[in-house]
Amino acid sequence: MSNVDPAELQKFSELAHRWWDPNSEFKPLHDINPLRVDLLEQSVGLRGRRVLDVGCGGGILSEAMAQRGASVVGIDLAEKALNVARLHLLESGNEVDYRCVDAETLSHSEPSSFDVVTCMEMLEHVPDPAAIVQACARAAKPGATVVFSTINRTARGYLFAILGAEYVLKLLPRGTHRYDYFIRPSELSAWCRDADLHTLRVVGMSYNPLSRRYSLGNDTAVNYLLIASKGST
Ligand code: SAH
Repeated sequence: MSNVDPAELQKFSELAHRWWDPNSEFKPLHDINPLRVDLLEQSVGLRGRRVLDVGCGGGILSEAMAQRGASVVGIDLAEKALNVARLHLLESGNEVDYRCVDAETLSHSEPSSFDVVTCMEMLEHVPDPAAIVQACARAAKPGATVVFSTINRTARGYLFAILGAEYVLKLLPRGTHRYDYFIRPSELSAWCRDADLHTLRVVGMSYNPLSRRYSLGNDTAVNYLLIASKGST
């Protein structure tokens, strides 16, 4: 399996037991979760939809989508994170089909199978993100919606996501993110185009360190989401 950075998976495995602690290293994911789930709800709707969540980790996003009535398959390669995700289902009563499989393999065994594909805060941890974009597109049905979120490779991306979050505010452990793995919206959009995904919207997600709140808007300089549809429909 080539499209994996073992050091990246190791980081997420070591922290696995902390996924559902809202005050842990995963606090930012808990904080942004309502925003991104609302955005999905508005742009595609979740009830009755078959959703693939790529790089689902401990299941913060997968479970929230299941709770809104989606039928979710969550995939990741960090086995410990998946075990935590499965255990948490016992507590929450939600249903998610968690599988330890890479996106490329799943997209070949289940091509054109999902109404919605989500791949959030994951592309910036892999060596070949364009191949993940291809796999997400392959798994999506024609006309399906594919949503990515990642971090922009800008000076402010570096300042906020690395210096600010890891060194000043200490929201994240040092070494969580690598600047060279960050992705510009134009790059992500080009990979989408190559995979027959049409970019519909790019939405910024910014953090206000004073109010300690995230909000959606036009500012894509640090975190952003890209919503695309498969094919021309
Ligand atoms: N999508 C989730 C978790 C984001 S953290 C959320 O937004 O809440 C990033 C996740 O990507 C981790 O769970 C990590 O194990 C996973 N990951 C990193 N590299 C991967 C790869 N090559 N294939 C699949 N998952 C990977």
